[in-house]
Amino acid sequence: MKQKKSSKTPLENLSDFADSFTYFSKITKKLQGAYKELEKKFEDLNLKLEKTNNQLRQSLAEKDRISNYLNNILESINSGVLAVNKDGRITLFNRSAEEILGYRSFEVLGKDYLEILGKGLKIEKTPIHTLKTKALHLNEEKEVSTKSEKKIPLCFSTSLLTDADGNLLGAVETFFDLSRIKRLEDEISRVKTLAALGEMAATVAHEVRNPLGGISGFAAILEKDLKPFDPRQKWVKKIIEGVEILNRIVIDLLNYTKVVKLSPHKVNFIKFLEDTINFFQMDNLSKRGDVFIIKNFKKKVLECQIDPEQFRQVVLNLLRNSVQALPDGGKIEVTAQSSFSNKPEGEVILKIADWGVGMDQKTIKNLFTPFFTTKEGGTGLGLATVKKIVEAHRGKVQIKSELGKGTNVKISFPKAFVL
Ligand code: ADP
Ligand code: MG
Repeated sequence: MKQKKSSKTPLENLSDFADSFTYFSKITKKLQGAYKELEKKFEDLNLKLEKTNNQLRQSLAEKDRISNYLNNILESINSGVLAVNKDGRITLFNRSAEEILGYRSFEVLGKDYLEILGKGLKIEKTPIHTLKTKALHLNEEKEVSTKSEKKIPLCFSTSLLTDADGNLLGAVETFFDLSRIKRLEDEISRVKTLAALGEMAATVAHEVRNPLGGISGFAAILEKDLKPFDPRQKWVKKIIEGVEILNRIVIDLLNYTKVVKLSPHKVNFIKFLEDTINFFQMDNLSKRGDVFIIKNFKKKVLECQIDPEQFRQVVLNLLRNSVQALPDGGKIEVTAQSSFSNKPEGEVILKIADWGVGMDQKTIKNLFTPFFTTKEGGTGLGLATVKKIVEAHRGKVQIKSELGKGTNVKISFPKAFVL
């Protein structure tokens, strides 16, 4: 390549070069200034970015905190809460929902509501109905099947789930188990019926009592008037027996329907039991030589607070039942002991056991139901009265029995109860 020959002198060239250099250094300076500015801007931007990042992090943490907080509330409330998305698939299932319906959340999340929880239900009783029609349900009742196919009554409400802009996300259902309330309702109506029945029975018993006294008095006179071998004595005996049964029914009815108002005394429970058993033996066992009562008292003194008159009914009723369960004779064991024996706190435990006929399952189930009896001439009020009086002493009655083997009754109550 041929080089173009320069027409400038070396000196001129040098001055050109100096000019260029000055220019270059000016530009460099300018560039450096611009770079610095850029650097500063970049730094500012970085700072701003960091600030925004921090804010974002904070708001994310806050969001996390709020969502945790809401989750905790969701998990700890006693109502079941579940949500479905727009496709009707379950997206949320809280702890109470698990407890009420018996499914674990991982078993239902993502599943179709109607397939898993809506089986056998009308669509109007589901959040899917709300999703489709926008109709909300408030405190309605339905019966659903749990995972173990148990039918339970639920009270439920539904609402729609939307985002901040009002776009539909799904639906929520909240619910709670009505089983306990339903049971209480049944119990209340049963108690109401019983109370009405009791009132009526008490009135009738009062009315019956006087003529009954008359019949038994006249029968006694008749018995005396007739010669000992007069065949009519048999009829008079029947009258007296009949009157005794009627009297028992009247007494049982009056005892049962009487409102338990306790007048508690400090008593030696062992002495109280001895007296009551003696009384019972004279009154009920004098004619039977085949029933023995074993008194199993470890101590001579067991102090507690009871209403002795009322508590006597408890012991007498239980002894009477045991004797009646021993048609061919046998033994009854009465045990009394206490927890914290030397202290005023603790419980008295009274056990009355017999080796008699025992009970079948149906009887065990109905033991405390007033008027339930398996006996001819029974009133079915004995154990109901026992329960009523023991509970008034803030105690408990537990009964175990096996058909053909015998029965164990355990009564426990606090030594000193506050009225
Ligand atoms: P009643 O004695 O008038 O029948 P209760 O309330 O005292 O009424 O007892 C209810 C039922 O419980 C009895 O009819 C009987 O079937 C059963 N029962 C109670 N105590 C015993 C017992 N010790 N052994 C066997 N059955 C019993
Ligand atoms: Mg009885």
